[in-house]
Amino acid sequence: MVVSTKVKNALAVLVLGISTQTAAENNAGLKFSAFEQRIWQIVQNSSAENPLTLLQALATDVTEPADQALLLMHQCRLAVRQSQQPQPALLQHLSKLHQSDTDRATGAAALTKCQQYHAMLDASSNQILQLENTAYYGLNASDGPLMQMWLSFDFANAAMDAGFVDEALQAIERSLSIARQNDLSEWVSESLGLLALLQSDLGQYQQALATVQQGLAQAKDPLNRETLQLRQAFVLKQAKHYDEALAAYQQLLYQAGPDNEQVYITAALNISAIYQATRRHAENLQLTAQLLQRLDKTQDPYSFAQAATLRAIALLSNDQYQAAAPLFTEAQQWFEQNEWLVYLVPTLEQWADLLAQKGYFAEAYQASQQSKQLRDQLNEQRRLRDATLQNAQLEVARQQQALLESRQAHQQVTAELARKEFEQRSFQLIVASLMLLALTILWAYVRLRQANQALAAKNEELDYESTHDPLTKVFNRRYFNQFIQQKLAQGGEALLLLIDIDHFKKVNDTYGHHAGDQVLEIVSKRLAGKLRDIDRIIRWGGEEFLIFIEKPTDSTNAAALVQRLLSEVASTPVQLAHTQLTVTISAGFSLITLSDIQALESTLNQIDESLYRAKTQGRNQAVGLLPQPAQELLTIQPAL
Ligand code: GH3
Ligand code: MG
Ligand code: MG
Repeated sequence: MVVSTKVKNALAVLVLGISTQTAAENNAGLKFSAFEQRIWQIVQNSSAENPLTLLQALATDVTEPADQALLLMHQCRLAVRQSQQPQPALLQHLSKLHQSDTDRATGAAALTKCQQYHAMLDASSNQILQLENTAYYGLNASDGPLMQMWLSFDFANAAMDAGFVDEALQAIERSLSIARQNDLSEWVSESLGLLALLQSDLGQYQQALATVQQGLAQAKDPLNRETLQLRQAFVLKQAKHYDEALAAYQQLLYQAGPDNEQVYITAALNISAIYQATRRHAENLQLTAQLLQRLDKTQDPYSFAQAATLRAIALLSNDQYQAAAPLFTEAQQWFEQNEWLVYLVPTLEQWADLLAQKGYFAEAYQASQQSKQLRDQLNEQRRLRDATLQNAQLEVARQQQALLESRQAHQQVTAELARKEFEQRSFQLIVASLMLLALTILWAYVRLRQANQALAAKNEELDYESTHDPLTKVFNRRYFNQFIQQKLAQGGEALLLLIDIDHFKKVNDTYGHHAGDQVLEIVSKRLAGKLRDIDRIIRWGGEEFLIFIEKPTDSTNAAALVQRLLSEVASTPVQLAHTQLTVTISAGFSLITLSDIQALESTLNQIDESLYRAKTQGRNQAVGLLPQPAQELLTIQPAL
């Protein structure tokens, strides 16, 4: 192997470190799911009528991308094998699945495997191996155990054929451990058969034989048993236990019967190799003649060419150079054309040695030169395969890295989104708080205004109460005191009347105090109704009212007004609850020139006297002074 162990180890660390978790972590999830068991039932049953149809029927139940990938991979495998035709629809489906399922490797592995099944239709073995590598190293611990087991087994086979013993060993151990966890005894025994071959490749023959025995102890399927027995015989041959190996192959031939082509060819080729090693040339000549006769060159050219070289060596060993040379040359050409150098190179070296032994020096030299050249080619092929493996591993590591980076990027985007959302929420919160604050202020303002309004109303009420008489609602004396101060200050003329209800005591005495109150209310209302806005009526005492009339235009008008007031009360009876009664008033009046408080007091005294006079003159009349036409006491009666 050209790649140094150091580089390979470093690669393994890189690849395994990224693609898989620890073995302990793996074990937990190695049991097949119910779906995997269903798939397994179909694909492991070699005698199933139409496994492809059975798989297609499962498609409707699948939702998990990993299950879908597993199902499609097996569909692809069976469809390509059955029809020997490309299956573009399945490839497309898998590639879509892979793109949508970036978080898991299953989609990638399944797609690669499907590509590999297609490549088997016409691609070179190198390309197939590369795809096998990519699929296997793309697996990781989160993939389903069936997928892991299947791909590990396939990879172990391919890696063994390519001479990657370490990698093959690792893969077969993985396949074995999953098969054991799921009690798949046939798969376990098959894996053990492969493991035995690997051990044999490493020269560990005792171990290899023990492994095969272990496999045989579990295998029940006849085909599987046959394969294991072939491997057992092969290991015995490699271990140079020729007698036992021979006995094993003969037993196999007997068991399989004369018509089992596959067992016959494998056994015969190996028996021939044993004859060659043990120099039983006569028997070998007989066997190879039989073998070549039975082999169809076009059906199995590889076995034919192999048998031809075995026979050629047997012939030459038996000094039949003329017959041997063309047979060997023909086989050599086929091997060269098909690049089966792994087999050809050691065989050609053996041929060259034998030629030299038999004295064909020129031919021996030529064969030796050819073998050297081909060994270089073989080394180049191996180097290429190493590079292929290395590339596949690097590519997988790169993909895993890209996946990691894309996840990180995704996380960053998520964090950024969360930050933005937070900002937005904060903004919304601030706006909401501001709105709440504004509402609170508005509410407080409304409350304040309501309070102010209530206060103003209350003040107004208080104001009203302090200036009005509660029973009759006309102004009280306190109001008049303020009012008259203003009027005295302003100056001008006014008519003052002091009014007293006649015989009011009688109303109280006859109809009760409440009736008296009603009379007070009605009389005051009637009087107020005759006044202008600028005039005032004041409750002066018990049933006395003072009336202030601003600037009467002349005395005729003043006298008429006094008369109208008298008539207003006297002309219509007052309606009480159970009766109606006629109420009259008496009044004293005078014009006043508004100047000072003395003038007011003397006018008030004067109209009080006039009122007294009106009472004594018979009531229901007014007495007072008016400047026009004469300055003498005037008596006014209500109009009839
Ligand atoms: P005169 O014609 O001489 O004025 O006879 P009069 O009965 O009206 O006599 P006077 O003016 O002296 O009597 C007033 C009465 O009015 C005395 C009092 O009981 C009554 N009075 C005073 N204030 C009220 C009041 O608010 N309601 C009622 N129902 N009666 C009142
Ligand atoms: Mg009175
Ligand atoms: Mg009275």
